[in-house]
Amino acid sequence: MSESAGYRGRLAPSPTGHLHLGHARTFWTAQERAESAGGTLILRNDDLDGPRCRPEFVAAMFEDLRWFGLRWSEGPDVGGPHAPYDQSQRMPRYAEAFERLRAGGFIYPCTCSRQDVLRALTAPHQGEEEPVYPGHCRGAATARERAGVNWRFRIADGASVEFFDGHFGPQCSIAGLDFGDFLVWRKDDFPSYQLACTVDDAEMQITEVVRGADLITSTFRQLLLYRALGWPAPAFFHCPLVNDEHGQRLAKRHAALSLRTLRALGRTSDDLRAGW
Ligand SMILES: [Zn+2]
Repeated sequence: MSESAGYRGRLAPSPTGHLHLGHARTFWTAQERAESAGGTLILRNDDLDGPRCRPEFVAAMFEDLRWFGLRWSEGPDVGGPHAPYDQSQRMPRYAEAFERLRAGGFIYPCTCSRQDVLRALTAPHQGEEEPVYPGHCRGAATARERAGVNWRFRIADGASVEFFDGHFGPQCSIAGLDFGDFLVWRKDDFPSYQLACTVDDAEMQITEVVRGADLITSTFRQLLLYRALGWPAPAFFHCPLVNDEHGQRLAKRHAALSLRTLRALGRTSDDLRAGW
């Protein structure tokens, strides 16, 4: 980590659908923060989500981002010192982090199915991306193949994880209560989002992560990964989510508010930003 100088931010879209106004707004904030700090903005293609990531969405993603006025100085299309910028091409880095976590005793293999985990729950958490795992397999031997089993991070029950969010202020989560032993490596032999994101943000020397507020819960897990891997964590700035006219959070299924649809309707990026 020698070349680090100044602010480095990133846009990290996932090509599982077309970008919508909510993404654009978050990315615009990321760009403004990088610009106002005189820093660098990079584009990373978070394309690890196997069959849901499609080549046509990658092409559309570049086009939509540029149309909206976003510019980056490192990325899959322009290269840079931390290439490759496509997560699907960065597997050796994730595997290395996995081995470090395994060697340090931070993770263990879990043979529970999703059904097993759900059955063991007393109070399912609304809105969490994964159920709080009750820790059945914590004592499992770690001498096994990486593939074919889920690997989980062993949290310290009751420990509080805290960070200061650049937008929302102080954040706190209690391990074992708000989230459980979380997935680090999947049995289909891919890293979890949490691990891939942490590895890439660290290796790409990101100094501030700007992303949607739906990922605040991920940040607590990622902070534990930074700690376990012995890496400094970046700052975090989570953006409020954009809702549709019914108060529902925008998602990729809201085709009507995709950037492509809005552009086809003659809207311009300037007029879309006018109300912000
Ligand atoms: Zn288990």
